[in-house]
Amino acid sequence: MEDLSIYIHWPFCKSKCPYCDFMSIPKNDSKEYEEVENWLLKDLKISLRELEDPFIKTIFFGGGTPSLMGPKTIEKIVNFITKNYKTDHDIEISLEANPATFSNKKLQEIKDAGVNRLSLGVQSFQNKNLKFLGRIYDSEQALKAAEMVASIFSNYSFDFIYGYQTQSMDDLKDDLTKAVNFDCPHVSCYQLTFEEGTPFFQLLREGKIRPINEEQEVEIFEYIQNFLREFFFNRYEISNYALKNFESKHNLAYWKYQNYLGIGPSAHSRLVFDNQKYELKKYSNLDKWKSNLSNNPPAYEEKRILTDYEQLEEIFVMGLRLSDGILVESLKSKFSDSMLNSIFERIVFLRDKNLLKKSDTHIRLSESGVLKQNSIVEFLFN
Ligand code: SF4
Repeated sequence: MEDLSIYIHWPFCKSKCPYCDFMSIPKNDSKEYEEVENWLLKDLKISLRELEDPFIKTIFFGGGTPSLMGPKTIEKIVNFITKNYKTDHDIEISLEANPATFSNKKLQEIKDAGVNRLSLGVQSFQNKNLKFLGRIYDSEQALKAAEMVASIFSNYSFDFIYGYQTQSMDDLKDDLTKAVNFDCPHVSCYQLTFEEGTPFFQLLREGKIRPINEEQEVEIFEYIQNFLREFFFNRYEISNYALKNFESKHNLAYWKYQNYLGIGPSAHSRLVFDNQKYELKKYSNLDKWKSNLSNNPPAYEEKRILTDYEQLEEIFVMGLRLSDGILVESLKSKFSDSMLNSIFERIVFLRDKNLLKKSDTHIRLSESGVLKQNSIVEFLFN
């Protein structure tokens, strides 16, 4: 078995943000939380049993709002993995937290449970922007939460959203300034997207909110990059910036197309069985996910073998997000020459248009290609 990353999906939030299309149910019910925590453990045990001698490098508690989980359950999950399986000596154990969901005491308990990296979904430190984004805390609470995280963890990230009508460049500057003043070692800056089925998508269709235009997109992206570069942050992925050695190992596993196991409702996996790469997805419906875990063996909402061509496309979708790009050698060792030749011809075309860079060792986006990643992949594979 190759290296493995484990993703645990916590399916609840205190309330639903209007831009979010993740599988998360707004609920504050400690009984139901406890019940789902037990099902998560069951899912973990069943799923790991199917794998042959996994070597676990990272664990990531995402969601939803996993900072609503009980620290005791986090500890049980971490202990189950570390006591029963081979793990990296410096295994990264991350948890996403919403600023309105923890006290100093709870955060310390989360750390004591084994979490060694915290990702704080600040989104903004400005009241008007938090209100627009439908977040359930204000600027003061966000700052307090950031202070707690910075005092308890040494490896942590502040996550921001940019690119919407209430946010000015001064707001962005203030958010990033606050992050560097905390000595935060990792910053994520994602552009707001309008996903089908969300309230924001509906408002966009009705013309009640508007997206930023392409010119603003470039201006903001460059501003963030230049600002953080001044403070020694490296943009190692399109939306992620880190000081040296503070990159997210778990997310790097996705972008490098390594194996990962998803636990919890709607969780995806990419796993190799019998030399075949599988795409797997757990049931999204909470009740279906729970009842299915009693079947032996449990079924998946989706389970299929990925063709070589699909794998190659996924490698480009994920790998081009990285500033280091994709290793040519890893492609050559995995795919046939005939398959690679047609892609390489298109890569040369895009290189001549200054959208991609290709050396003997790496393929990566150029500075001018970095915000055109989707259309570049589309051109390569259609
Ligand atoms: S807190 Fe996060 S997961 Fe929950 S609704 Fe908001 S954006 Fe989605």
